[in-house]
Amino acid sequence: METDRGTADIQTLPTLAVWKFASCDGCQLTLLDCEDELLGLTEQVRIEHFLEMSGAEGPGGGRAELAGRGPYDLSLVEGSITTAEDAERIQHIRRISRRLVTIGACATAGGIQALRNFGDVDEFRAAVYARPDYISTLETSTPVSAHVPVDFELRGCPIDRRQLLEVITAHLAGRKPQIPGHSVCFECKRRGTTCITVAHGTPCLGPVTHAGCGAICPAYGRGCYGCFGPTARPNLRSMIAQLRRDGMSETDILRVFRTFNAASPEYAPVADLAAEEQDTPRAGTENEPERPV
Ligand code: SF4
Ligand code: SF4
Repeated sequence: METDRGTADIQTLPTLAVWKFASCDGCQLTLLDCEDELLGLTEQVRIEHFLEMSGAEGPGGGRAELAGRGPYDLSLVEGSITTAEDAERIQHIRRISRRLVTIGACATAGGIQALRNFGDVDEFRAAVYARPDYISTLETSTPVSAHVPVDFELRGCPIDRRQLLEVITAHLAGRKPQIPGHSVCFECKRRGTTCITVAHGTPCLGPVTHAGCGAICPAYGRGCYGCFGPTARPNLRSMIAQLRRDGMSETDILRVFRTFNAASPEYAPVADLAAEEQDTPRAGTENEPERPV
């Protein structure tokens, strides 16, 4: 990207690369949405590889550009690993990146495409494609961290632009990103939103969902459905008991946890816990009086 700095100056800047795997591109677009900050960022970093922005195919052709040459000081990786080529390419990207940060639910927790992990991939393939034999895919969609070491995971579907800028500037400054691992509940308290679960018995994943969105849904009277993925230490047992008290069945609980972050390791115990908690007394039973709404 052109700036008013001299060429020699630009050559000394740390380099940034942005990579895409299976995803909708929404998290890469979050970087482009940083309109006010993007030019300032290019004073600090040389964006070497970002096909979503440049669309460039280098001398090596599309495949070489997809693989990249490097080395890069910081790589941002969007998307989950869903094909054998993906699994090979992420190893290469790790080798040519000094720091590797995954961005978004797809890259940190398999994304919506990880729903395949709980079904029959051949059935899905046959239902969706006229010629399923043309489709070559892995049986699973997995987070990048299941394949290579990751220096930092930024959650969200899509990610939050302020958190993204913090992660980039922290890495440029050689410090740890200030992204607290606390829950959406903290953000409700900060903006003065009345707890919709306490006040109205609305099922809400806020207590186990990572902060970052500013608690948008509860502010509009809706329960959080967990698009920012798990907090640092989610108390799933208590959360599931609460969701049951608020009227959710085992199937509903599984579905709400498996929406965006299905392959998140933190959510893996949900299936067993949801079944186990089935004996928990429900609102309105003889053990627990019905809560007022
Ligand atoms: S995490 Fe969400 S917004 Fe980001 S690429 Fe995946 S589906 Fe798109
Ligand atoms: S679902 Fe939860 S994490 Fe996602 S925007 Fe709504 S409140 Fe925020």
